[in-house]
Amino acid sequence: MSERRLWTARAGWLLDGLAPPRRNVRLVVEGTRLVAVEPFDGGQFDLDFGDGVVVPGFVNAHTHLEFGALTEPTSPRDTPVPFAEWLRELIAARRAAALERSPESLRDERRTGVVLGLDELSRSGVTMVGEIARPDWPEATLAGPVDTLVFLELLGLSRARVEPLLAMAKAHLNRAAVANEASGGAVPFADWQAGLSPHAPYTVHPDLLAGACRLSLEHQVPIAMHLAESWDELELLRSHSGALVETLREFDAWDPSALPRGLTPSDYLQALAKAWKTLVVHGNFLSSADYGRLAEDRERMSVVYCPRTHSRFVPTRYPLAEMLAAGVRVVLGTDSRATNPDLDFLAELRWVASRYPEVDRATLLRMATTDAAIALGLTNRGALIAGQRADFVVLQSDAGGDHNPWEWLESVAWIPASVCLGGVLRSTTEKKQLPAGCPG
Ligand SMILES: [Zn+2]
Repeated sequence: MSERRLWTARAGWLLDGLAPPRRNVRLVVEGTRLVAVEPFDGGQFDLDFGDGVVVPGFVNAHTHLEFGALTEPTSPRDTPVPFAEWLRELIAARRAAALERSPESLRDERRTGVVLGLDELSRSGVTMVGEIARPDWPEATLAGPVDTLVFLELLGLSRARVEPLLAMAKAHLNRAAVANEASGGAVPFADWQAGLSPHAPYTVHPDLLAGACRLSLEHQVPIAMHLAESWDELELLRSHSGALVETLREFDAWDPSALPRGLTPSDYLQALAKAWKTLVVHGNFLSSADYGRLAEDRERMSVVYCPRTHSRFVPTRYPLAEMLAAGVRVVLGTDSRATNPDLDFLAELRWVASRYPEVDRATLLRMATTDAAIALGLTNRGALIAGQRADFVVLQSDAGGDHNPWEWLESVAWIPASVCLGGVLRSTTEKKQLPAGCPG
């Protein structure tokens, strides 16, 4: 039996986006869980977070950590970058690397990206991430500084790829189930959460999508799919033409027999509604009728907005306020370093706060915490209430004096000084700790 250590901490402020900000609170943690969050009116405590602000650990709903070591996004140039062009450069770079380098060296590079990416996310206050993973994703990093929901990426437009990919998907889900059962909750692999990611309409055969949705329901795991990301994607679906078709043809990755003409994102939402839970990644070009459908099914379907990535590709404003007003559950993701300058989740939040003043702060915080946990199908995370996993961030500033509890959303003087993951507190300023089994 593992020891269930109990400790307490006092903080100046607690914010969860669910209730008004609370002044002077005491948190009680036992083992991996919060057992009480209560007003502090004197008495004992083990740790003092001073005038710091405690918020739930951030839940980053979408990234691809394999690009975690990139120093600048693919196709660096003035924005906006045409999506099909960005994809062309990404595929060309991947294919060139596959020809020039050994599979082991590529795998090592991706693993290093994942390790660096998890560390960067943790330093910005993330405790849970929805990661899109290639088949050789390094499971050893599950013991890292951020808990991970590993969405296995499924790429196959031709009918011939459907059965092998569904077999791979099943193996992925079974591996997670076996690892969790074997650990009995005592080791980090207990947090081996699995999901499936049929990549996008232009890379996924409809039978593959239907099969993945069936597996999602059967295993009660979420699905994440890139959808309505670019105008080029909509044109491809509508008329089998346009820049995206040209790019895919160039790499022999276009199969017009796989998709009937005249499809729309709404058709995909209909297919995705059959999954247990769905994350619609991007959703930049959904219609108001689509918002209605997503709002109706908001307990099971969410949209992941990746703010700085959207601004890189799309010159028009993201319809965030419109979606929220319609009742859509919108959550946040950093996406990857192939499209974003960094993986700083707090920077992503501040970016939205400064550009969308019409979205109230409590809603924004929930998009980054409670709502994102619900979107990923996780019931024991995302809020600061007794019984939840003890995942939280302590934001602190040297400024001192009285402050508005939301000031950290505006001022970079506030940093996520400590992050608590499953009851274990870690300073973000300590030297980087690599998890066992990962290259240094
Ligand atoms: Zn993505």
